[in-house]
Amino acid sequence: MSLCLVPYPENCTGCRFCELVCSLSHDKVVNLKKARLRIVRKDIINDIPVVCAQCTNQEEECCANVCPEKAISFDGTALVVDEEKCTGCGLCEDACAYGVIRVEGIAQKCDLCGGDPLCVKFCPFGAIRYEEMKKENFQKVLSLLEG
Ligand code: SF4
Ligand code: SF4
Repeated sequence: MSLCLVPYPENCTGCRFCELVCSLSHDKVVNLKKARLRIVRKDIINDIPVVCAQCTNQEEECCANVCPEKAISFDGTALVVDEEKCTGCGLCEDACAYGVIRVEGIAQKCDLCGGDPLCVKFCPFGAIRYEEMKKENFQKVLSLLEG
């Protein structure tokens, strides 16, 4: 059973260390907008960590399913983008239920840091964990986003 990022919104304080470390490690800049996850502030005390589910929840319209170039595939750890194949069409960005794929030239998505997720390491509050899929946590995130 492969592991994925699992969000625990009730633990998130909105410190945004996760976004910071993600942008720094993958884009070599401190730019929270470049992070491959996002923290959504609902109100002064409620922040929602929104992470890639690696489509292990079998959404019909996940990024890998809609890519016409078959540029997104499972590498044994995560769904990753083949830079040679991606044309930057943006269909994956539109399909992602969590809004955590960004197309900048080509698709940028969470690669689970190769199996050692930095956002998990640096979250001081256990609001993102690396463990077996918990669908109910992702459903909670979606309902909080809608609410
Ligand atoms: S590091 Fe943890 S507590 Fe801080 S914003 Fe990210 S998920 Fe929330
Ligand atoms: S696992 Fe790595 S790539 Fe994915 S959101 Fe966390 S820091 Fe970013």
